[in-house]
Amino acid sequence: MSALDQMYQQVILDHAKRPHRKGLRELEVDAGVVGESHQVNPTCGDEVTLRVGVSREPDGGFVVRELAWDGQGCSISQASISVMTDLVEGLPVDEVGLISGKFSELMASRGKGLDSDEDEDLLGDAAAFTGTSQFPARIKCALLGWAALKDSLARSGALAS
Ligand code: ZN
Repeated sequence: MSALDQMYQQVILDHAKRPHRKGLRELEVDAGVVGESHQVNPTCGDEVTLRVGVSREPDGGFVVRELAWDGQGCSISQASISVMTDLVEGLPVDEVGLISGKFSELMASRGKGLDSDEDEDLLGDAAAFTGTSQFPARIKCALLGWAALKDSLARSGALAS
């Protein structure tokens, strides 16, 4: 196993062991909206309920301010949700859409990763799931949290405009 693969595996283990922002709670975002989504991955038994709080900015855009979630399932699914919340908190919703698209591309890369280093930088710790994309059965595990994020943003109304 390469040093990079080892580092990636450690990221996943750390997040699976101590997931960030786990525990559902009321989100209070000033002048904002909140969306929630429940997603399941029946092939593996993974589940997540994700809440996202989004603020409406003076320029009309939306920014992800707070996330909270609860879930159960395999290490890949739970670690991927945790990494995702680290990555997107504080970002404009437009940028979240871009990163989410790059993560889907990564999951379709069959273990090769993304061609552009800039794109991999955008993914931050989520690049740790590069190896997961070699295993078709696990790809849905890694994508579960991202599906919940997209749906909860849609339900909040932040994707409407
Ligand atoms: Zn799973």
